Amino acid sequence: APAFNYGEALQKSLFFYEAQRAGKLPANNRVSWRGDSALNDGQSAGVDLSGGWYDAGDHVKFGLPMASSATMLAWGGVEYRDAYQSSGQLPYLLDNLKWVNDYFIKAHPSANVLYGQVGNGGTDHAWWGPAEVMPMSRPAYKIDATCGGSDLAGETAAAMAASSMVFRPTNPSYADTLVTHARQLYNFADTVRKVYSDCITDAAGYYRSYSGYNDELVWAAAWLHRATGEASYLTKAEQYYDNLSNEPQSTIKSYKWTIAWDDKSYGAYVLLAKLTGKQRYIDDANRWLDFWTVGVNGNRVNYSPGGQAVLDQWGSLRYAANTAFTAFVYSDWLSDATRKARYHDFAVRQINYALGDNPRRSSYVVGFGNNPPKNPHHRTAHGSWSNSLNEPAATRHILYGALVGGPKSADDAYADSRNDYVMNEVATDYNAGFTSALARLYREYGGTPLTNFPVAETPDGPEIYVQASVNASGAGFTEIKAVLYNHSAWPARTLSDGSLRYFFSLDGTTTPSQITLTSAYTQCRQPTGPTQWAGNIYYITIDCSGQNIAPAGQSESRREMQFRIASSGTWDPTNDWSYTGVATTPGATPVTVQNIVAYSGSTRVYGNTP
Ligand code: BGC
Ligand code: CA
Ligand code: CA
Repeated sequence: APAFNYGEALQKSLFFYEAQRAGKLPANNRVSWRGDSALNDGQSAGVDLSGGWYDAGDHVKFGLPMASSATMLAWGGVEYRDAYQSSGQLPYLLDNLKWVNDYFIKAHPSANVLYGQVGNGGTDHAWWGPAEVMPMSRPAYKIDATCGGSDLAGETAAAMAASSMVFRPTNPSYADTLVTHARQLYNFADTVRKVYSDCITDAAGYYRSYSGYNDELVWAAAWLHRATGEASYLTKAEQYYDNLSNEPQSTIKSYKWTIAWDDKSYGAYVLLAKLTGKQRYIDDANRWLDFWTVGVNGNRVNYSPGGQAVLDQWGSLRYAANTAFTAFVYSDWLSDATRKARYHDFAVRQINYALGDNPRRSSYVVGFGNNPPKNPHHRTAHGSWSNSLNEPAATRHILYGALVGGPKSADDAYADSRNDYVMNEVATDYNAGFTSALARLYREYGGTPLTNFPVAETPDGPEIYVQASVNASGAGFTEIKAVLYNHSAWPARTLSDGSLRYFFSLDGTTTPSQITLTSAYTQCRQPTGPTQWAGNIYYITIDCSGQNIAPAGQSESRREMQFRIASSGTWDPTNDWSYTGVATTPGATPVTVQNIVAYSGSTRVYGNTP
């Protein structure tokens, strides 16, 4: 039997991209706790930029990692389509690639314009809540002919070209559309030579283009060659290859890093080796993967005692997974038997480490395997209502298939802590190489995707509810303090037309006209009524419409309303329907009640009517 159920791991890893979706969700949305979000993205710039993927545990849509994730995911589809097909996961791969490519199409409204970021890093990261109720404005940032971004445009071209190959067999017209955009974007990248984070400066604090754009110009040309079959793109890729970075004070191509959102050189080594068979590219690919395995002149990536190859502290498992996938692709092509086995075995080992073959005997994939992470640094999965990383203590949703950052040193040590975004964040660019490697493992070792996946989640309690206490009472009056809470998370949603009804009976000969309503304090409207419900049962209404009650912060998630019901007759408040369960000691802390009823418009959303 295979060491792990790669079919299940592949299946779950694809779910993660669906949890990252921004915009209007489709009817076949599999994530029961996600809803529409960020529908107005781009509006301030006069373009529709809704859709795409949230980057990580935050809600910025960063174009460079989004594009590079799409390329890595599509690359797996190009190489291992058969595995996707036989595992039944091809429809999900196509769906997720379509989602992100539809966004790239929107983000590329004319030949030399590409929107490369929506959302501001500072204001986005300063707030901790679910995507569905984000309060901050989300500016859109672009590159154009006056201030370009060859890395961003190049990578987006690569993503669309690679994706076109995945769509070609089943949706050739969409594949053609993607190729058209990819050609234009490549031309834009090639002619307006610029580092994108010098133009979209907000990105510099998060996804600065450290490696520059020469790598993307080679990489994207290689992908365009594959997608179109045109020789001119291959010529370009080979021409620009000389511009790729070298090790310091040498003419040896860089080998001490790896393919990730910033630097595609390593992917270019492998693609060009395969496309041309030339020794130069083979040497560069070998040297790089030897650095990751046996070492090069004594230089080797750090290994933990438990066997993890650790390149860098931030998202170490992602670097290992990206390298593993690319090593698989290369090893599948190599004929040199020693290296073929070396790189293959390395790749298997690194992915198995992430799945649980490690000293902690624990999975690093949320919702998969033994003792998986439960507290990824992910705002929407956490489901706070109070803009707090610590409330509630337990993460409310299972973010299936998300690969966390992992150990920050080569020591196999890790803590499942929500506030640790170095070890415990998740991101589309962490997952993409990983997903593609899982497809390769499935192809070789098999596995069985779950048949009943995903099971819709059950809310952890009432999402919208009411608490109440007696504020004051006296001869002929009772004053209630009621608090309407919105802690919704399945999905999180704003209540903008809320209201409460308080039901009571008129006793003896009391008539409705003997009832007066007042309020000393309310965050909603003044109480109205009484309205007859049935017989001697009446209710008063406190209308909160126009208030956006949302799980977006301590005060944002609640509205307090006090109301005094006074009677000149013989009204007895203690036998009233809505009085049941109310904390009756005057001034007591409100408690959760069942019989004060909350509505959204005319739909009852909480509580029992008489
Ligand atoms: C955010 C993370 C982000 C980190 C670094 C944190 O506040 O929650 O999503 O990766 O800042 O920018
Ligand atoms: Ca680059
Ligand atoms: Ca009564």
